[in-house]
Amino acid sequence: MLISPEAKSLVMDSVTGRFEAGGSRITRRVNAKIKCKKCSHEIPRSSKFCPNCGEKQLQISEVITENTVLENITLTPDSSLVTFATLRDLERTTSAKDVVGGSGTSNPSVSVSSALPTLRMAGIEDVMLIQDFPLTTAAIGFSRLRSGPPAWLNSFPATKTTGTKIPVYTNCITSEAWMVKLCGRQIIRWLQSNSLLSEDYLKDTNFSSEEEATIWLVHRLSSETKSDDDRLLYEWIYSLLHSYSHLTLQLLGINSGLDASSLGEMLLTEALSYIIYAGESDIGGLSATFNQGLGLVADDIPDFARVCKFDPSCQKDDSGVCVGCLYTSRGCVNFNNDLSRSFLYGGQIMQNELKQNIK
Ligand SMILES: [Zn+2]
Ligand SMILES: [Zn+2]
Repeated sequence: MLISPEAKSLVMDSVTGRFEAGGSRITRRVNAKIKCKKCSHEIPRSSKFCPNCGEKQLQISEVITENTVLENITLTPDSSLVTFATLRDLERTTSAKDVVGGSGTSNPSVSVSSALPTLRMAGIEDVMLIQDFPLTTAAIGFSRLRSGPPAWLNSFPATKTTGTKIPVYTNCITSEAWMVKLCGRQIIRWLQSNSLLSEDYLKDTNFSSEEEATIWLVHRLSSETKSDDDRLLYEWIYSLLHSYSHLTLQLLGINSGLDASSLGEMLLTEALSYIIYAGESDIGGLSATFNQGLGLVADDIPDFARVCKFDPSCQKDDSGVCVGCLYTSRGCVNFNNDLSRSFLYGGQIMQNELKQNIK
């Protein structure tokens, strides 16, 4: 595998926010003319096909992957870090951090500017609005022929055109999404103050900059040869992100005019981030909330799910998560497992069959 220092830095620069979101900056950086591998015709790097001979060309995620080695990390096109960098780079992606820092492409709205300090206090480093979130839904079959049991998954019948292959029907659309990145330094402080990992593992982690903290975490989360502590770190951060994700999903359900059950989530653990996307019912609710209601969402985070209507039983018997608070009826990537209000507000949780108190 080739080690290209420039390509290696692209992904990390994106995750640490060293250059602005949106505007296809990565695409343009690698957009220097290349030669078609078949006919040697000179074409832009972003071309999907050669206009001269029709040969398929490598895409941006493949370009990043082809050249990237992050120490002992091998990146694949579907890895969280590449997904993060690719989505952050899309032409119409806006970052709240850029807007407030004055380097964003759009005019700073009052809502976005005032929201960032509140978000930071809640442990959120940045919120990005992805206006062209690529979404593919696939129907792989149907579960029943009549109303009663039995119900199992039946594939669609093969057609003349598919031959013996089983058809899968897909619908590719672009929708809107929020990509939220948590603050690396605050994650480390949370791990330290709750003694969730050994002192030895967390020694030398009092980083003075957010960038250093993010790099430290990203390397441990993406390492191919994970130690037991690395794996534990991954589990804690996964559950933390998942709890934040459900909280955000419910807040967007209230503030965006979209029903919470029409929203979906995606966790990018290695990039300390999660995504909430609008399904096919996209009506511009997520961009309107980003531009005009980010402050409202930020204000609600500290207390929104602090109390559940089924408390104290939810907190005592259900590890701080139930249908009355963080569960979602649809769209969860992990069937409502590995999340708890205790990760957000403190309390008791069950982790690896052990009861643990979190501050
Ligand atoms: Zn509850
Ligand atoms: Zn979920």
